[in-house]
Amino acid sequence: MKKIDKGDSPEWFETWKQNCKDTIGREAHYKKDFSSEDNDGKRRRQRLRNQLIEEQGYICCYCMKRISLDSSHIEHFWPKTFFPQIDLDYNNMFASCNGDGIIGIDGHCGHKKEDWWEKDMIPPTEAEIEKIFQYSVDGRIHSVPGRPAANIAQEMITQMGLNSFHLKRNRREAIENSEVFDEEEYSDQDIRDFIDYYANKDNGFYIPYCMAIVDCLKDCL
Ligand SMILES: [Zn+2]
Repeated sequence: MKKIDKGDSPEWFETWKQNCKDTIGREAHYKKDFSSEDNDGKRRRQRLRNQLIEEQGYICCYCMKRISLDSSHIEHFWPKTFFPQIDLDYNNMFASCNGDGIIGIDGHCGHKKEDWWEKDMIPPTEAEIEKIFQYSVDGRIHSVPGRPAANIAQEMITQMGLNSFHLKRNRREAIENSEVFDEEEYSDQDIRDFIDYYANKDNGFYIPYCMAIVDCLKDCL
C-alpha cells in the first residue's frame, strides 16, 4: 500500500457541513445528508471524490490500481455503520477502486472490506502502512513477518481481498513492465533512482502498483 498524505479538508466541504448543522440543528451525516439521490448531493459527492482521487495520485487507497471518477467510490476506513460520528470526517474518507470480478468471489478493496474493522488495523495515512506489507515478483502481497503488526496486516490482506486473481495478475504485469525485468545491468544508483521515481508522484500521478515495483527493485540492490 502507498501511504496517503492527506491535506486539509476542503473549505467548501467544511462550510457545507457547518451550514447543514446551522439549518437542521444537528451534525450532518453521510447517508442522510450527503446523498447521491438528489443532484446537489451527487455533485458534492463527486466533487469530494475528485479531491480524494487527486490527493491519492489517481490510485486506489488499498490496491494502487489506477482510479477515476467513474471507477471509484468514497471509502470510509472506519466503517460508517460502526463509526457514524466520523462518517463525514475528511480524515476517514478515501477513494477506493470498485474492485474486479464478483465481490463475493474475486472482489477486493472497499466493496470487499465493507463493514469489517479491527481496532488495531492501520490506516493508509500512517507511515507504517508501507512497512507491514511486502510484494514479491509473482505479484503476491505478504505481511512482513516479525513486525508487531504482522497479524493485522495478514487480516487486512484477507478482508480487502488484496491477493485476488486480478490484483496478482495486474501487479505481476506492472513489475514485468518495469526496470525489474530489463536485460540491462543497472548500477545501484540507477536502481535507487528508479525507486525514487516509483515512490513519488510524477505530475500528480503515481504509477499503478508503484509500491509492488519498489519492493522488487529493492531486491535488485
Ligand atoms: Zn483497489
